[in-house]
Amino acid sequence: LEPLYSFMIRVRVPGGVATPEQWQRMDALSDAYGSGALKLTTRQTFQLHGILKRDLRATIQEFNDVLMDSIAGCGDVNRNVMCAANPHESALHKDVHAVAAAISAHLTPRTTAYWDLWLDGEKRYSSLVNDGEKEDFEPIYGATYLPRKFKIALAVPPQNDTDIFSNDIALTAIAENGVLQGFNVAIGGGMGMTFGMPETYPRLADLIGFVPTDKVIDVCEKVVTIQRDWGNRENRKFSRLKYTIDRVGLPAFLTELRLRLGYELEEARPYQFTGSGDSFGWSQGEDGKEHLTLFVEGGRVTNKNGVELKTALREISAFHTGEFRLTGNQNLVIANIDPKHRQRVQQVLENRGAWAQTQQQTALRLGSLACVALNTCSLAFAEAERYLPHLLDRLDTVIQANGLSDEGILIRMTGCPNGCARPYLGEIGLVGRSIGRYNLYLGADHSGQRMNKLYKEMLDEEGIVAELTPLLEAYAQDREPQEKFGDFVIRQGHVAATVQGLDFHA
Ligand code: SF4
Repeated sequence: LEPLYSFMIRVRVPGGVATPEQWQRMDALSDAYGSGALKLTTRQTFQLHGILKRDLRATIQEFNDVLMDSIAGCGDVNRNVMCAANPHESALHKDVHAVAAAISAHLTPRTTAYWDLWLDGEKRYSSLVNDGEKEDFEPIYGATYLPRKFKIALAVPPQNDTDIFSNDIALTAIAENGVLQGFNVAIGGGMGMTFGMPETYPRLADLIGFVPTDKVIDVCEKVVTIQRDWGNRENRKFSRLKYTIDRVGLPAFLTELRLRLGYELEEARPYQFTGSGDSFGWSQGEDGKEHLTLFVEGGRVTNKNGVELKTALREISAFHTGEFRLTGNQNLVIANIDPKHRQRVQQVLENRGAWAQTQQQTALRLGSLACVALNTCSLAFAEAERYLPHLLDRLDTVIQANGLSDEGILIRMTGCPNGCARPYLGEIGLVGRSIGRYNLYLGADHSGQRMNKLYKEMLDEEGIVAELTPLLEAYAQDREPQEKFGDFVIRQGHVAATVQGLDFHA
């Protein structure tokens, strides 16, 4: 008798944009085959948890019917391409999202194995496959694929809501008068590290230049192929692009990139990011359409404790004519709402008890991010998603007592140092060491452009609260106008600023 195996399926959602029909299908599948919860991830994808082995094919076939797939959701290939969920720039977002989708399609593996395994060899989503021909040929990945996973993200300033610099390739949209011109390109970001191995480290991507829109796919492809050829294939701990760049040196990498491209990148253009979180509540796009950004704690869409968020979103998806945008912070934008539906959308959320939960929280909680960790992730040393809400209850007490309820402070927690919730970009970063014990990192900036640094090790809950309470009290009293918490702790000398990955441990 075979054990009752169950699986997690990660569905590819380029740029995190899903139609109401796709939302409805994922909602239904999470009930029919999964745990009942629909998980929104830190890479703007859906995850279905608890899918029994016998239900895998049916699940995949059913989301394939609404043109979604799980190709490259995992493995040593390019993963889900992230794209700004910024609802304020509708036309620009549309153009940038089209680029994200094109990069995703270009770097999607061509193997027919996925179709053979799950869809009886039928290419029902044939646009993903070379000319509709059934051949196993990987023009980019070759016979060996990449040394490890590869990540790309796009952002539209001033919001760095996809934390682009934590990616192997970071693309900053550059627009003039609202018209997309191209992208600043940065390479070599990555969050993972291993405890006890200081030669592993998180790193932010290096800015290397500007590329017009029509060449951006070419640049991405060439960076991927250099990593394919030069990346470390002997030790997976050192196989990400960031280690390749630091091993050969950025100048040597750029020389090779220029050779493969046959042209130079232009000089990087000016840009400014002001934050990496989401802006919650109602906003209006330039075309008059309405957008509503909802806080989804831990990215878990459920019905529980009297908050029927899952049911509310199902009801909204039945009449909504825009789309659902998954943000890189595990939240959700109900985007491009017909103005005549605005009142109805809010009413549904209120009726289902989900309005306060998704809007009326401290800014600390609204800016929180946690990976799944225990009991879902087999790599976890400690709790994260299930535990952070409780810790935030205690920290909110300190926050409220010190008048900081509206002060956005980025807090991130993971169950291990792999960094799925980008903890090293948290102004407060908590990384699990063992059950109930966390390393505390401080000093990241508020816009995803400076990492934090280790402040204290192996803290339990009392230790975390005891360490953070006086820092938050001092921040409330002594901060300068507009000063962010991450900048404050550096100015006060609690930690030194981390400039680049190689000095993360210094
Ligand atoms: Fe990622 Fe580690 Fe969290 Fe698992 S426990 S989801 S590997 S950060």
